[in-house]
Amino acid sequence: MTKVCIGIDLGGTFVKFGLVDETRRAGKVFSLPTPPNPQPEDVVAVMADGVEKIIADHSLAREDILGVGVGAPGPLSVKRGILLQLPNMQTMRNYPLRDRVSEAVGFPATLENDANAAAYAEYLCGAGQGTRDMVMFTLGTGVGGGIILDGKVLHGANEMGGEIGHIIVQPGGRPCPCGQKGCLEQYGSAMNLAKYASRRIREEKPVSRLTEILKQNGEIDAKTIHAAGRDGDAFARELWEEMAMYLAVGCVSICRLFDPDRIVFAGGMTRAGEDLLEPIRRHFQREDWTMLETKTTLAIAALGADAGAIGAAGVAWNAFGTKSSSSS
Ligand SMILES: [Zn+2]
Repeated sequence: MTKVCIGIDLGGTFVKFGLVDETRRAGKVFSLPTPPNPQPEDVVAVMADGVEKIIADHSLAREDILGVGVGAPGPLSVKRGILLQLPNMQTMRNYPLRDRVSEAVGFPATLENDANAAAYAEYLCGAGQGTRDMVMFTLGTGVGGGIILDGKVLHGANEMGGEIGHIIVQPGGRPCPCGQKGCLEQYGSAMNLAKYASRRIREEKPVSRLTEILKQNGEIDAKTIHAAGRDGDAFARELWEEMAMYLAVGCVSICRLFDPDRIVFAGGMTRAGEDLLEPIRRHFQREDWTMLETKTTLAIAALGADAGAIGAAGVAWNAFGTKSSSSS
Protein backbone atom coordinates (compact mmCIF):
# COMPACT_ATOMS: atom_id res chain seq x y z
CA MET A 1 0.00 0.00 0.00
CA THR A 2 1.19 3.52 -0.82
CA LYS A 3 2.46 5.53 2.12
CA VAL A 4 0.91 8.97 2.59
CA CYS A 5 1.17 12.12 4.69
CA ILE A 6 -1.92 14.19 5.46
CA GLY A 7 -1.87 17.98 5.29
CA ILE A 8 -4.07 20.45 7.19
CA ASP A 9 -4.28 24.17 6.33
CA LEU A 10 -5.75 26.35 9.07
CA GLY A 11 -7.53 29.42 7.71
CA GLY A 12 -9.83 31.98 9.30
CA THR A 13 -12.91 30.66 7.43
CA PHE A 14 -12.01 27.09 6.46
CA VAL A 15 -9.71 24.30 7.52
CA LYS A 16 -8.51 22.49 4.39
CA PHE A 17 -7.31 18.92 4.15
CA GLY A 18 -5.16 17.17 1.56
CA LEU A 19 -2.62 14.41 1.20
CA VAL A 20 0.57 13.59 -0.63
CA ASP A 21 1.75 10.07 -1.42
CA GLU A 22 5.23 8.72 -1.98
CA THR A 23 5.04 9.41 -5.73
CA ARG A 24 4.50 13.14 -4.91
CA ARG A 25 0.89 12.85 -6.08
CA ALA A 26 -1.54 15.11 -4.26
CA GLY A 27 -5.05 13.94 -3.35
CA LYS A 28 -8.19 16.04 -3.77
CA VAL A 29 -8.41 18.85 -1.20
CA PHE A 30 -11.61 19.37 0.81
CA SER A 31 -12.52 21.83 3.54
CA LEU A 32 -14.48 22.03 6.78
CA PRO A 33 -15.63 25.35 8.29
CA THR A 34 -13.39 26.90 10.97
CA PRO A 35 -15.54 27.31 14.11
CA PRO A 36 -16.35 30.99 14.82
CA ASN A 37 -14.37 32.51 17.75
CA PRO A 38 -12.85 29.09 18.32
CA GLN A 39 -11.27 27.73 21.44
CA PRO A 40 -8.10 25.82 20.57
CA GLU A 41 -9.76 22.47 21.39
CA ASP A 42 -12.54 23.21 18.84
CA VAL A 43 -9.96 23.76 16.12
CA VAL A 44 -8.12 20.54 17.02
CA ALA A 45 -11.46 18.66 16.98
CA VAL A 46 -12.21 19.91 13.43
CA MET A 47 -8.71 18.86 12.37
CA ALA A 48 -9.18 15.38 13.86
CA ASP A 49 -12.57 15.03 12.08
CA GLY A 50 -11.00 15.98 8.76
CA VAL A 51 -8.17 13.48 9.20
CA GLU A 52 -10.69 10.70 9.93
CA LYS A 53 -12.65 11.72 6.81
CA ILE A 54 -9.51 11.48 4.64
CA ILE A 55 -8.74 8.04 6.08
CA ALA A 56 -12.30 6.89 5.29
CA ASP A 57 -12.51 8.54 1.83
CA HIS A 58 -9.23 6.99 0.67
CA SER A 59 -9.71 3.70 2.57
CA LEU A 60 -6.32 4.22 4.18
CA ALA A 61 -4.79 1.81 6.67
CA ARG A 62 -3.44 3.66 9.70
CA GLU A 63 0.01 2.11 9.27
CA ASP A 64 0.27 3.71 5.82
CA ILE A 65 -0.01 7.22 7.28
CA LEU A 66 3.47 8.44 8.14
CA GLY A 67 2.48 11.78 9.63
CA VAL A 68 0.30 14.87 9.58
CA GLY A 69 1.47 18.34 8.60
CA VAL A 70 -0.29 21.45 9.83
CA GLY A 71 0.01 24.82 8.09
CA ALA A 72 -1.11 27.96 9.93
CA PRO A 73 -0.78 31.72 9.59
CA GLY A 74 2.31 33.11 11.30
CA PRO A 75 3.99 34.17 13.36
CA LEU A 76 4.68 30.72 14.71
CA SER A 77 7.59 28.58 15.81
CA VAL A 78 8.27 25.61 13.58
CA LYS A 79 10.88 24.26 16.00
CA ARG A 80 8.60 24.39 19.03
CA GLY A 81 5.40 23.64 17.11
CA ILE A 82 3.50 26.54 18.65
CA LEU A 83 1.39 29.38 17.27
CA LEU A 84 2.56 32.76 18.55
CA GLN A 85 -0.16 35.33 17.92
CA LEU A 86 -2.68 34.77 15.15
CA PRO A 87 -4.26 38.17 14.40
CA ASN A 88 -7.76 36.72 13.89
CA MET A 89 -7.66 34.01 16.55
CA GLN A 90 -6.58 35.52 19.84
CA THR A 91 -7.59 32.41 21.77
CA MET A 92 -4.93 30.39 19.93
CA ARG A 93 -2.07 32.55 21.20
CA ASN A 94 1.01 30.53 22.25
CA TYR A 95 -0.93 27.31 21.62
CA PRO A 96 1.15 24.13 21.08
CA LEU A 97 -0.88 23.16 18.00
CA ARG A 98 1.58 20.58 16.62
CA ASP A 99 1.59 18.39 19.72
CA ARG A 100 -2.14 18.75 20.40
CA VAL A 101 -2.99 17.67 16.83
CA SER A 102 -0.54 14.79 17.05
CA GLU A 103 -2.20 13.56 20.26
CA ALA A 104 -5.70 13.94 18.80
CA VAL A 105 -5.02 12.06 15.55
CA GLY A 106 -2.45 9.55 16.80
CA PHE A 107 0.24 10.38 14.20
CA PRO A 108 3.45 12.39 14.41
CA ALA A 109 2.91 15.98 13.28
CA THR A 110 4.75 19.04 11.95
CA LEU A 111 3.80 22.72 12.04
CA GLU A 112 4.72 25.14 9.26
CA ASN A 113 3.90 28.72 8.29
CA ASP A 114 1.11 28.62 5.66
CA ALA A 115 3.05 30.71 3.11
CA ASN A 116 6.03 28.36 3.37
CA ALA A 117 3.68 25.36 3.10
CA ALA A 118 2.13 26.79 -0.09
CA ALA A 119 5.61 27.35 -1.54
CA TYR A 120 6.52 23.78 -0.66
CA ALA A 121 3.43 22.49 -2.49
CA GLU A 122 4.41 24.35 -5.67
CA TYR A 123 7.93 22.95 -5.33
CA LEU A 124 6.66 19.41 -4.82
CA CYS A 125 3.89 19.10 -7.39
CA GLY A 126 3.06 22.53 -8.87
CA ALA A 127 4.85 25.23 -10.85
CA GLY A 128 8.19 24.40 -9.19
CA GLN A 129 8.06 20.69 -9.89
CA GLY A 130 11.44 19.31 -10.94
CA THR A 131 13.41 22.20 -9.39
CA ARG A 132 15.76 21.91 -6.44
CA ASP A 133 15.86 25.55 -5.38
CA MET A 134 12.65 27.54 -5.74
CA VAL A 135 11.39 30.82 -4.32
CA MET A 136 7.75 31.83 -4.21
CA PHE A 137 6.34 35.36 -3.98
CA THR A 138 2.72 35.44 -2.78
CA LEU A 139 1.10 38.65 -4.00
CA GLY A 140 -2.12 39.27 -2.13
CA THR A 141 -3.09 41.85 0.46
CA GLY A 142 0.57 41.76 1.44
CA VAL A 143 3.62 40.15 -0.12
CA GLY A 144 4.58 36.84 1.45
CA GLY A 145 6.49 33.89 0.22
CA GLY A 146 8.75 31.00 0.86
CA ILE A 147 12.27 29.94 -0.01
CA ILE A 148 12.96 26.28 -0.77
CA LEU A 149 16.65 25.39 -0.90
CA ASP A 150 17.80 21.90 -1.77
CA GLY A 151 14.25 20.68 -1.15
CA LYS A 152 13.94 22.22 2.31
CA VAL A 153 12.08 25.29 3.59
CA LEU A 154 14.47 28.01 4.74
CA HIS A 155 13.63 29.28 8.25
CA GLY A 156 16.76 31.07 9.43
CA ALA A 157 18.45 31.08 12.83
CA ASN A 158 15.56 32.91 14.51
CA GLU A 159 12.79 31.48 12.27
CA MET A 160 12.42 34.83 10.54
CA GLY A 161 13.93 33.94 7.17
CA GLY A 162 12.09 34.08 3.88
CA GLU A 163 10.26 37.36 4.57
CA ILE A 164 10.42 38.34 0.93
CA GLY A 165 7.84 41.11 1.31
CA HIS A 166 10.20 43.03 3.56
CA ILE A 167 13.22 43.14 1.27
CA ILE A 168 13.97 46.87 0.89
CA VAL A 169 13.59 47.84 -2.77
CA GLN A 170 13.53 51.62 -2.24
CA PRO A 171 15.76 53.01 0.53
CA GLY A 172 13.87 55.72 2.44
CA GLY A 173 10.70 54.77 0.56
CA ARG A 174 7.13 54.14 1.66
CA PRO A 175 6.85 53.35 5.39
CA CYS A 176 5.96 49.74 6.24
CA PRO A 177 4.17 48.54 9.41
CA CYS A 178 7.23 46.32 10.02
CA GLY A 179 9.23 49.45 10.89
CA GLN A 180 11.36 49.61 7.74
CA LYS A 181 10.91 51.98 4.81
CA GLY A 182 10.63 50.97 1.17
CA CYS A 183 9.72 47.29 1.66
CA LEU A 184 8.68 45.33 -1.45
CA GLU A 185 5.25 44.79 0.15
CA GLN A 186 4.60 48.55 -0.09
CA TYR A 187 5.07 48.42 -3.88
CA GLY A 188 4.08 44.90 -4.95
CA SER A 189 0.92 44.02 -3.03
CA ALA A 190 -2.62 44.47 -4.34
CA MET A 191 -3.60 46.56 -1.32
CA ASN A 192 -0.68 48.95 -1.52
CA LEU A 193 -0.90 49.29 -5.30
CA ALA A 194 -4.48 50.51 -4.81
CA LYS A 195 -3.66 52.63 -1.78
CA TYR A 196 -0.82 54.57 -3.38
CA ALA A 197 -2.67 54.84 -6.70
CA SER A 198 -5.59 56.48 -4.86
CA ARG A 199 -3.20 58.88 -3.15
CA ARG A 200 -1.54 59.86 -6.44
CA ILE A 201 -4.89 60.34 -8.16
CA ARG A 202 -6.08 62.67 -5.38
CA GLU A 203 -2.85 64.67 -5.55
CA GLU A 204 -2.19 64.72 -9.29
CA LYS A 205 -5.73 64.37 -10.71
CA PRO A 206 -4.41 62.64 -13.85
CA VAL A 207 -6.50 62.31 -17.01
CA SER A 208 -7.44 58.68 -16.41
CA ARG A 209 -10.45 56.42 -16.08
CA LEU A 210 -9.19 55.74 -12.57
CA THR A 211 -9.78 59.37 -11.58
CA GLU A 212 -13.45 58.98 -12.52
CA ILE A 213 -13.79 55.60 -10.80
CA LEU A 214 -12.20 56.91 -7.59
CA LYS A 215 -14.53 59.91 -7.64
CA GLN A 216 -17.60 57.66 -8.10
CA ASN A 217 -16.74 54.78 -5.75
CA GLY A 218 -14.46 56.46 -3.22
CA GLU A 219 -11.92 53.67 -3.74
CA ILE A 220 -10.13 51.64 -6.40
CA ASP A 221 -8.58 48.19 -6.31
CA ALA A 222 -5.76 46.38 -8.09
CA LYS A 223 -8.21 44.61 -10.41
CA THR A 224 -9.59 47.95 -11.62
CA ILE A 225 -6.08 49.28 -12.24
CA HIS A 226 -5.23 46.15 -14.23
CA ALA A 227 -8.44 46.38 -16.28
CA ALA A 228 -7.93 50.10 -17.04
CA GLY A 229 -4.34 49.42 -18.13
CA ARG A 230 -5.54 46.65 -20.46
CA ASP A 231 -7.94 49.14 -22.03
CA GLY A 232 -5.04 51.47 -22.78
CA ASP A 233 -5.29 53.90 -19.85
CA ALA A 234 -1.79 55.40 -19.71
CA PHE A 235 -1.83 56.29 -16.00
CA ALA A 236 -3.04 52.79 -15.02
CA ARG A 237 -0.29 51.30 -17.18
CA GLU A 238 2.31 53.45 -15.48
CA LEU A 239 1.18 52.20 -12.05
CA TRP A 240 1.21 48.59 -13.22
CA GLU A 241 4.67 48.95 -14.78
CA GLU A 242 6.07 50.52 -11.61
CA MET A 243 4.74 47.62 -9.53
CA ALA A 244 6.27 45.10 -11.95
CA MET A 245 9.59 46.94 -11.81
CA TYR A 246 9.78 46.71 -8.01
CA LEU A 247 8.84 43.03 -8.09
CA ALA A 248 11.60 42.51 -10.67
CA VAL A 249 14.10 44.26 -8.38
CA GLY A 250 13.02 41.82 -5.65
CA CYS A 251 13.66 38.94 -8.07
CA VAL A 252 17.16 40.22 -8.85
CA SER A 253 18.01 40.31 -5.12
CA ILE A 254 16.66 36.78 -4.71
CA CYS A 255 18.78 35.59 -7.65
CA ARG A 256 21.95 37.15 -6.25
CA LEU A 257 21.36 35.47 -2.89
CA PHE A 258 20.00 32.06 -3.83
CA ASP A 259 20.29 31.55 -7.61
CA PRO A 260 17.04 29.52 -7.66
CA ASP A 261 15.94 27.38 -10.62
CA ARG A 262 12.62 29.20 -10.58
CA ILE A 263 10.72 32.06 -8.97
CA VAL A 264 6.99 31.34 -8.73
CA PHE A 265 4.31 34.00 -8.23
CA ALA A 266 1.11 33.13 -6.35
CA GLY A 267 -1.82 34.97 -4.78
CA GLY A 268 -4.71 37.11 -6.02
CA MET A 269 -2.58 39.36 -8.24
CA THR A 270 -1.62 36.39 -10.42
CA ARG A 271 -5.15 36.28 -11.81
CA ALA A 272 -3.72 38.86 -14.22
CA GLY A 273 -1.62 35.96 -15.65
CA GLU A 274 0.73 36.95 -18.43
CA ASP A 275 -0.23 40.63 -17.94
CA LEU A 276 1.62 40.36 -14.62
CA LEU A 277 4.42 38.01 -15.64
CA GLU A 278 5.42 39.72 -18.89
CA PRO A 279 6.32 43.14 -17.39
CA ILE A 280 8.05 41.51 -14.39
CA ARG A 281 10.11 39.37 -16.79
CA ARG A 282 10.92 42.41 -18.94
CA HIS A 283 12.06 44.52 -15.97
CA PHE A 284 13.89 41.52 -14.52
CA GLN A 285 15.95 41.19 -17.69
CA ARG A 286 16.65 44.92 -17.65
CA GLU A 287 17.67 45.14 -13.97
CA ASP A 288 19.53 41.84 -13.82
CA TRP A 289 23.31 41.75 -14.05
CA THR A 290 24.98 41.32 -17.44
CA MET A 291 28.12 39.71 -16.08
CA LEU A 292 26.70 36.21 -16.55
CA GLU A 293 23.48 34.79 -17.91
CA THR A 294 20.79 34.32 -15.23
CA LYS A 295 19.04 31.03 -15.83
CA THR A 296 16.30 31.48 -13.23
CA THR A 297 12.85 31.23 -14.82
CA LEU A 298 9.68 33.03 -13.67
CA ALA A 299 6.29 31.31 -13.53
CA ILE A 300 2.76 31.60 -12.15
CA ALA A 301 1.76 29.14 -9.39
CA ALA A 302 -0.34 26.14 -10.42
CA LEU A 303 -2.14 24.92 -7.30
CA GLY A 304 -4.21 27.94 -6.25
CA ALA A 305 -5.97 27.75 -2.88
CA ASP A 306 -5.17 24.03 -2.51
CA ALA A 307 -1.45 24.73 -2.09
CA GLY A 308 -1.57 25.24 1.70
CA ALA A 309 -3.01 21.80 2.50
CA ILE A 310 -0.91 19.97 -0.09
CA GLY A 311 2.24 21.74 1.09
CA ALA A 312 1.54 21.01 4.75
CA ALA A 313 1.37 17.32 3.77
CA GLY A 314 4.60 17.75 1.81
CA VAL A 315 6.38 19.25 4.82
CA ALA A 316 5.28 16.25 6.90
CA TRP A 317 6.56 13.98 4.14
CA ASN A 318 9.90 15.74 4.29
CA ALA A 319 10.02 15.11 8.05
CA PHE A 320 8.69 11.55 8.23
CA GLY A 321 8.64 10.12 4.70
CA THR A 322 12.33 9.80 4.05
CA LYS A 323 12.90 8.11 7.42
CA SER A 324 10.34 5.45 6.55
CA SER A 325 11.68 4.69 3.07
CA SER A 326 15.23 4.21 4.39
CA SER A 327 14.11 1.89 7.19
CA SER A 328 11.66 -0.21 5.14
ZN1 LIG B 1 8.26 45.86 5.82
